[in-house]
Amino acid sequence: MNRRVVVLGGGIAGLAAAIALARRGYPVTLIERDPPPPAGHDEDPFLAWKRRGVPQFRLPHGFSARARSQLAAHAPDVLERLLADGIEEINVFKRLISPELWEPSDDEFTVVWARRSAFELALRRSAESEPGITFLCPAVASGLRFDRSPGGPPLVTGVRLADGRELDADVVLDCGGRSSPVSRWLAAEDAHVRTDTQDCRTVYFSRYYRFTPGCDLPKTAVAILRGDIDDLMFIGFPGDDDTFAICVEARPDDQDIRLLRHTWAWEAATSGIPAVAPWVDPANATPLDEVQTMGGHHNVRRRYVVDGRPVALGLLAVGDALCTTNPAYGWGASMALTYAFAAAEAVSSHDADPVAMALAYDAATSSEADAVYKESAAMDRARIYRSTGQEVPEHDRAEMERQHLIAEGVGAGVFFDIELGRAFSRRVNLAGPADAVLDNPDIVSRARAARERITSEPAPKPGPDLKELRAIVLAAKPKTTV
Ligand SMILES: Cc1cc2nc3c(=O)[nH]c(=O)nc-3n(C[C@H](O)[C@H](O)[C@H](O)COP(=O)(O)OP(=O)(O)OC[C@H]3O[C@@H](n4cnc5c(N)ncnc54)[C@H](O)[C@@H]3O)c2cc1C
Repeated sequence: MNRRVVVLGGGIAGLAAAIALARRGYPVTLIERDPPPPAGHDEDPFLAWKRRGVPQFRLPHGFSARARSQLAAHAPDVLERLLADGIEEINVFKRLISPELWEPSDDEFTVVWARRSAFELALRRSAESEPGITFLCPAVASGLRFDRSPGGPPLVTGVRLADGRELDADVVLDCGGRSSPVSRWLAAEDAHVRTDTQDCRTVYFSRYYRFTPGCDLPKTAVAILRGDIDDLMFIGFPGDDDTFAICVEARPDDQDIRLLRHTWAWEAATSGIPAVAPWVDPANATPLDEVQTMGGHHNVRRRYVVDGRPVALGLLAVGDALCTTNPAYGWGASMALTYAFAAAEAVSSHDADPVAMALAYDAATSSEADAVYKESAAMDRARIYRSTGQEVPEHDRAEMERQHLIAEGVGAGVFFDIELGRAFSRRVNLAGPADAVLDNPDIVSRARAARERITSEPAPKPGPDLKELRAIVLAAKPKTTV
């Protein structure tokens, strides 16, 4: 015991892993490049916490039920802190059906409605109250120190900081997020992480709002606000403290829609979509800040155990550093927590045996990481084939047919078939494996029936098509804008 743990990165994965390990008695040093949250409760951390290391900090986050259940199981005080901060727990599935239809297992769809800032702040405050965690913050990790035995993988023995300091470590957790530098540092040691990547081909535009006091728009409605206009998608995200976000996802090569980064274009487009217009009406809601935008999303799966052998010892990759999925599916934070608590378990079960530690962590996480990566990448390919008109290659046809049945059968059937509603809720909430939705033959036949019904009676789509939406944006363009 008393093995020294260094956690690189204090986002969702790093904070959760640090809490879990400190509570198992390990001295933990957490290195985070960004400054700490503002002290006290006077300022809204959404605006006041400088999180340049997390570019998605002010973009909408929906936390699936898996995030809540991971906290309830492994760090219940964080959940209590969220509730004490006024954050609501809500089960949208149960709210939408009458109580006599509820089943006990429906409780697994309960989520918390919080902005990323509020969610992360609760984790951070719990971590700060752990005497076993030392925060180096702000501090930047700039490299790893290794021991090499001939023919074996490098053993990580410490972390170098950009200011010249070095920290000794028996175990390093890479919680550096989607842009973590660790796999590059390993490659320089000739230790190669096996990486699968697929471009999501999407760009996000979003804006948070606060409800006007007395506004009678039901908050549950923003949780199910979702629609598409050709290959553009709009989504609503409920937040904490009477906030919510509207998010638009579009193709990155659509230059007219890219203008949505400007307030004038955002306002014209969102108020031009009938389903979105009431939410952005100044009578109902006030924006919290400017339009946020982010592109360059990729699905990435990094494998640190290749052909049954760890690529490095004394090192576990956790959170987005292990697997990043398309943010639109809302799985990243939940999986970051899942990996973090699995890492704490692997460390404490095998702290004197780095090979066993690496293999145990891989065994605990790889099938789920593979499942979310494959599902996220396949959903993205389905969208990309559709929006580009590209013919689906032979090798991908069965998978694309499967994704079509999930989207057009299970997804579209949720509002008229309660069992499809349950199956869909299990998938989006990661209440079971992400890839298990069609494992049940009853769900497959219900999904086929729903798809047939949707195809034979397509619902009218009020509002502009994409060409008309582009025209709305261009018409709003101020004369001075280049
Ligand atoms: C636009 C967008 C929207 C999203 N929406 C959702 C959603 O709705 N639901 C959901 O579940 N997930 C969502 N995600 C995914 C979610 O944000 C991530 O999965 C989650 O943040 C991963 O946690 P992490 O701790 O692995 O990484 P991060 O939270 O990114 O934390 C990494 C930390 O490491 C620090 N760091 C990095 N390098 C260094 C270094 N060298 N030295 C010191 N510190 C370092 C960074 O400053 C940062 O604090 C979204 C992501 C994006 C991009």
